[in-house]
This record gives sequence, C-alpha cells and structure tokens, in this order.
Amino acid sequence: MGIPHFLVIPYPVQGHVNPLMQLSEALAKHGCKITFLNTEFNHKRANSCGGGLDSLKEQGLKFVTLPDGLDPEDDRSDHHKVLVSIKTNMPALLPKLIQDINALDVENNITCIVVTMNMGWALQVGHKLGIEGAVLWTASATSLATCYCIPRLIDDGIIDSEGIPTKKQEVQLSPNMPKMVGADFPWGGLGKIFFPYIVKEMKTLELGEWWLCNTTSDLEPGALATSPRFLPIGPLMESDTNKSSFWEEDTTCLDWLDQQPPQSVVYVSFGSLATVEPNQFKELALGLDLLNRPFLWVVRPSNDNNKVNHAYSDEFHGCKGKIVNWAPQRKILDHPAIACFISHCGWNSTIEGVCSGIPFLCCPFFSDQFVNRSYICDVWKVGLKLDKDENGLILKGEIRKKVDQLLENEDIKARSLKLKELSLKNSVKGGQSSKNLEKFINWAK
Ligand code: UDP
Repeated sequence: MGIPHFLVIPYPVQGHVNPLMQLSEALAKHGCKITFLNTEFNHKRANSCGGGLDSLKEQGLKFVTLPDGLDPEDDRSDHHKVLVSIKTNMPALLPKLIQDINALDVENNITCIVVTMNMGWALQVGHKLGIEGAVLWTASATSLATCYCIPRLIDDGIIDSEGIPTKKQEVQLSPNMPKMVGADFPWGGLGKIFFPYIVKEMKTLELGEWWLCNTTSDLEPGALATSPRFLPIGPLMESDTNKSSFWEEDTTCLDWLDQQPPQSVVYVSFGSLATVEPNQFKELALGLDLLNRPFLWVVRPSNDNNKVNHAYSDEFHGCKGKIVNWAPQRKILDHPAIACFISHCGWNSTIEGVCSGIPFLCCPFFSDQFVNRSYICDVWKVGLKLDKDENGLILKGEIRKKVDQLLENEDIKARSLKLKELSLKNSVKGGQSSKNLEKFINWAK
C-alpha cells in the first residue's frame, strides 16, 4: 500500500484553516503526505504574522497557493464576494496545480482531497480526475446534521424554501439532540442570500466519502447518529498553537498571565469574524472594569481594513486588564491563571475551551453559535448565558453578575474538568477518534 497523499483545501477563514491545519499535522504524524492549499492572500498573511508555517514544513507539510481572484485591497469580510470570486476563479486553476504536484512526486500522487464547507467545488474537480474526497466539517456535528436535514425540514413544513421557520415550534432532529427553534438553525443571522447557497453546497459535499467532524460521540451523540458518513475525529488538538494565524499573536499576554493568581483571569474573545457593535463594546468594557479581577481581552482588528476601529469610553479604566489584538488562544486557555472564558461560542473556541476544562460565559453572535451555547449551558452544563436587555444589549451589570455566579459555582467547575477528561481521551491512542482517524487513513490508502 502506498502512502496516502492528501491535498487539503480550507475556505480562507481562520475557523477553517486552524482545524484543517491540526488535522494535517495529525495525518503527517501518521506518515501521510500533506499538501496544504492556501489562497495567495492568506498564505502571505499567515507568513507575515510569523506563524509556525516553517515548522510545519519540517514536519513534511508542503504549501501551495492559488489566487482567490480578488485584488489585494478588496474587502474579504464580504463573504458573498469571496465565495463568488473563489468559485469563478479557482476551479479552472486546480487541475493544472494537481498535475504539477503529481509531476513533482510521481511515487506519491494525490490520493484524496479534503475540503471544508464552501470548497465543495474542489471535490467536483477531484471527482472528474478520479481522486477521492472527504470533508472536514469545522462547526459542530449538530450544525452538519441540521444542514443535512434541510430537505426534510422543508418537506415537514418546518422551514420554507428560503430557510425561514414557518412555525415557532421546537424541533428535535434526532433523539439525544437538543431541541431547536428557528433562530438556532445554522443559517440564522447569515442573511437570505446564504440559504440557497448552503443547500447547493450540501449536495456537492456529498461527493466526499467521509464527513470528518471535530467532535466526539460523548459531546454530540445524537447528531453523529444522523448519518454513517459522519466520522468523529475530534478534539483536533494535535498541537497547542494555531500555526497559521492571520494576525500577529501577542505573546506578552503569556508573561502577563504568569504574574496573575491561579484561576483569577477572565478571558474574553469573540473569534475571527464577529463584530461587536459600539454600544455593546462600551458595556463590555465597563462590565470588565466592574469585575474587580484581572481580565485578558482580545480586541481584534477589523477583517476589512485590519485596523482596531473601537473607541474606549472615558469611563473605562482597564487597569486590571490586558488588551491584545490577537492572542495565542490555545496556550491562554491552558494557562493555570485562567478562570473562565467569555466566548462567542464559535465551534473551535468551544472545543478548545472544553479541552482546557474552562467554564464559559456565552454570547453567541450568529450561525451555529446559538446551538453551541445550548450545548455549553443546557446539555454539558459547563457555562452560563449572558442575557440581553430589551434593547439587545448585554449590560455591564449582567456581565459582573454572571462572572460572579459562574466562578462561585463549584458544580460547573467540576463538570468542566470532567468534560475535558472525557473529551481528551478520544484523541489518545486507542481512543475512539484516534481509531476513526486510522480508519480514515486506511481508507485513503
Ligand atoms: N483565535 C486565536 N486567537 C485569538 C482569537 C481566536 O488564535 O485571539 C483562534 C481560536 O483559537 C480558534 C479560532 O481563532 O481556533 C476561531 O475559531 P472559532 O470557530 O472559535 O470562531 P470563528 O472565528 O470561526 O468565528
């Protein structure tokens, strides 16, 4: 049997690149060859941030690039524009790239293409060339199950053909899955334009033999039971760093954390996409001041112009806190000084927080983040919700109250540590996810 050679292709956002990089590292450790395809724009960005791309080359990962079809100054936070451009430009370029990669490595031609959501077009290209495909689903298996069930949801009259819920009733897609209301559907808050797009993409992704999920059967048993194609291989925790960050990681916060008492620091981060509105930003800042304990707050530059567009109000002191543009999140969450995580509940952050045994305070913004909150607060019971007032704002008093409640709650702390243990044992040798990864590699051989 030859060595499997994977061509891996993430949609160019941080939340897809990070888990696909972790998967690539895991596959490389098993002796597989990996060619990682970045857009030219993102590859430059990750390289200029002094990320760990060079160390990955030493592990045998090769990097190749294709243009996304946009100009350097185009706004890449406009995902409709990015999607259209990628689909118009990249499919025609991929066959030649594959040919070139294969010509350089005649002994080990590409055997499998692994894509994330939105890159199903590459599976179509592979299919035409006789190359197998698989999908790495970077959100929860629950959101995958929900997208997979769209035809059923339409047939049952739960949503209309535009994805809009027709009734206010709760739906349970399969036993052991949390009940959802319309607002919990993963296309919620993304805008009308994306629903037909998701429907089409799900059909394309069916070309993937496996839908690898960064989860475990302890975390999402019901969702994983929806289709035999779902293969849990999580938590993807091959290394404690995100090697291709799009922003420079501010590592001074690790030294700062070393100076803080154990389990004292509130870590605040809303991932790579969410935008905090000015009023909410102000309340959050004042809420953090009120805590009277140290906090580490990631105030990320905008995806559009790469500038920090937030203004701090004069009332904000921030003397107990440290504010950074971008943090080495995996290391932060594992630091003994961290007490809890105020999170937007993106799936990567959720899994990372779970694997560090850190309790959450949840404030989802869009998409699957609402269901992820349900898992955190109602199913696994390792966090609390931050509630909004009648104007849709999480007020400073609410932040203070919930941080106090969370940190006084010994049951939540104990459950968080237990969930960490339960989750991590899947990825060690002999664990279920580790066995599933071997099954996947053997299939690719
Ligand atoms: N992240 C990071 N530093 C930060 C904030 C986030 O490295 O300061 C990483 C985080 O570890 C995670 C990813 O960015 O791997 C965010 O993915 P997630 O699914 O949580 O949210 P998204 O950005 O897709 O909304």
